[in-house]
Amino acid sequence: MNCIKPNCNKQVASKRAGLCSTHYDQDIFRVKYPFYRTWQSMKSRCYNPNDGNYYLYGARGIAVCDRWLSSYNDFVLDITTLGVKPTPAHTLDRIDNDKGYELENMRWATKKEQIANRRPEEKPRVTNRARAIGIRYHQKRWQARGRHGVHIGVFDTKEEAIKAREEYIKQQKTIDII
Ligand SMILES: [Zn+2]
Repeated sequence: MNCIKPNCNKQVASKRAGLCSTHYDQDIFRVKYPFYRTWQSMKSRCYNPNDGNYYLYGARGIAVCDRWLSSYNDFVLDITTLGVKPTPAHTLDRIDNDKGYELENMRWATKKEQIANRRPEEKPRVTNRARAIGIRYHQKRWQARGRHGVHIGVFDTKEEAIKAREEYIKQQKTIDII
């Protein structure tokens, strides 16, 4: 018998709910550490420039508090104080979109509530158009922003905005990307 997971043709070793050993271990892991992926992706959004959502988090200066950054267990311990996840559709959300991942700024919210919480100019439809960190298409022009949303300038072309941002970062002599 083959594993029931899509695109997995591995043999099922024993009676393990139709799963191969790899997928069986993954499922056990998920049960034992239910917030591990949440924790991983939170850190990735804030500190990995290659993450597809980095431009909305790390590039905007959104950080994870030290306690959570250094310990998965502390993260779980803290978020359980927010109460039980109301429905499977709820995910952890930051109350203030400009503040980071810290207990005081967290709540359970549905996707719909989270989108409503975003400032209008940050809707993906607009930001995706730029496809560059710190660059935003707004009112038919291109805005460049530095760390913590510092305003650099507004330009007619995307290339000018990117160049201005690069110059700005050089001037700052600080590394914008961790
Ligand atoms: Zn499998």
